[in-house]
Amino acid sequence: MNETLRILVADDDELDRQTVYLALTQAGVNIEMSEVSDAKTTISILRNTTFDCIFLNARLPDQDSISLIKKLRDAEIKVPIVVITEQGDAQIAVELMQSGATDYLDKSRLSSATLTQVLRHAIRIHQVEMQAASAHQKLKESHEQLLRKNQELEKQRQQIQLQNLKLLEVSQLKSQFLATMSHELRTPMNAIIGFAQILLRPKFGKLTYQQADMVERILNNGKHLLLLVNEVLDFAKLEEGRLALQPEFFDLANLTKKVVGEVRSLAETKKLSLIVKINIDNPVVFNDPIRVKQILLNLLSNAIKFTESGSIWVEVKNLQENRIAIAVRDTGIGISSQDFQHIFEAFRQLDQTITRKYPGTGLGLAIINSLVQMMGGKIFLESQIGVGSMFKIELPRQISLSTTNKTSEGVQFDGSGILSTVQKSRNQNSESRT
Ligand code: ADP
Repeated sequence: MNETLRILVADDDELDRQTVYLALTQAGVNIEMSEVSDAKTTISILRNTTFDCIFLNARLPDQDSISLIKKLRDAEIKVPIVVITEQGDAQIAVELMQSGATDYLDKSRLSSATLTQVLRHAIRIHQVEMQAASAHQKLKESHEQLLRKNQELEKQRQQIQLQNLKLLEVSQLKSQFLATMSHELRTPMNAIIGFAQILLRPKFGKLTYQQADMVERILNNGKHLLLLVNEVLDFAKLEEGRLALQPEFFDLANLTKKVVGEVRSLAETKKLSLIVKINIDNPVVFNDPIRVKQILLNLLSNAIKFTESGSIWVEVKNLQENRIAIAVRDTGIGISSQDFQHIFEAFRQLDQTITRKYPGTGLGLAIINSLVQMMGGKIFLESQIGVGSMFKIELPRQISLSTTNKTSEGVQFDGSGILSTVQKSRNQNSESRT
């Protein structure tokens, strides 16, 4: 204790005050001592001046020391208080400590050694108390902060929950609307297609070349429109979980050849070679033939649509564990690996500008994704910009009946850059069931 300590001695007995002064200075403690002789002055001096310690006589003339200490503590005057008691004041001493005194000292023990020891002890205790109080205050503040944060988070959580509910409601309304609209559009579309076909039959009268050309256009546009409507209807049903697979045994090799036959003229128009490789021991599978055809048609029509020159390969083969693979490969524009994930989201097209070169709804791959998941299969995509793409679907040879009514979400990627897992579909030429 080399620094000068500011000490206040509150005692009405001048001799006692001198004793304290002498005892401390004799012990080599540097002190700057102030003296007061009553409680009133003690309070007023303490309000304006800071001290390192107070030595307080337990019996000041104008106020008892217990209520004085309480008053000081209530006024947030934080200073070590050592009370100098008379002999036999042990009971009072306990009460003094309870009221906020730091220590007490019997008047008969006012020696240099005891006084210095008590002073040091009181200052140390006070420091520890101050540290504890400040730590406690900090803890209290952070606890309050946490509480406030928690309340804010809870409020935000409730808001998000509410927004989610609203979004869900809107999404359900949208799905219902899509389903109703596309369903309603199918009836007149079928009538337009049917009547156009009838008009083209020679037995209903010969049309001029120009008339026949126009009716053919009505027929082709009508068919195209119906495909789009079917795609929207399938998507809406899948979203609502209302699309069920209707599995049966069928010949996958035959179905593949039939689908390839249907798109061959499209490929020929673009001068693309269409190569089919069927390498399967037993072509009979148990699945929904209409949905498998839909998947294959979508993959093939996308391959043709996004390929300007070169070839398209369709390969069907056996895999281990009673699984089969259907792959469609092209030498088309390719897909960048960043877009692998996005193209399986509904309405996503890599070129979303109004003037885009390739038409479509952007629902094909989203539908394929859901269908393949329902079938318990997986889709893999390998693609490189400017080189081409390969969509490969792996399916169980026999789909499980329990999976036929449920859709699962998401596409798995193997994350290896050019080589990734994905899925795709489109509904051109589909024979959608209603
Ligand atoms: P749509 O063909 O109606 O646009 P899809 O869901 O079938 O919708 O495909 C989504 C997008 O994926 C396409 O717009 C296209 O950008 C990309 N894509 C699909 N297949 C291929 C492919 N074989 N080659 C290149 N890009 C493709």
